[in-house]
Amino acid sequence: MSDTLTGGCLCGAVRYQVQQTMRFRAYACHCTDCQTRSGSAFGIQQSVLSADMTIDGPLITGRHVQPSGAVAGIVACEKCLTRIYTSNDQRPGIVNLRAGTLDNSRDVIPAAHLWVSSKLHWVIVPVDAMCFETQPQDMAGWLEIFKPEAVAEND
Ligand SMILES: [Zn+2]
Ligand SMILES: [Zn+2]
Repeated sequence: MSDTLTGGCLCGAVRYQVQQTMRFRAYACHCTDCQTRSGSAFGIQQSVLSADMTIDGPLITGRHVQPSGAVAGIVACEKCLTRIYTSNDQRPGIVNLRAGTLDNSRDVIPAAHLWVSSKLHWVIVPVDAMCFETQPQDMAGWLEIFKPEAVAEND
């Protein structure tokens, strides 16, 4: 995938661009929070550095305190309520794009599937995907999923 990511909301009022200086691998999350938040089967998260992102348009922010105590900020288009990204106060500097808002969302292949213990029974996870019954318990585990990779300046 290109190092420049673009995307936006359903109505077109919100558009964003991410000039990645750091690349992260995407993951799918089958936890019940992601099911409720997305109103669907699972969430697909594409992490990026917040400093790499520019976003234009009318935004509103929701808040959710997770069981761990971490506070998630959920940022959406004010007009059509498409959720664009979430932040997490335990992971400053990184935001999770809702990967379905990417213009090239079909290029996103989750490197890992989290919370498969609560996935909907008809969802079949690819046999070669990295799976977690819940989620990584520490930063080292998260880094195994993200495999952050600096993008060379002359790329
Ligand atoms: Zn919109
Ligand atoms: Zn989740």
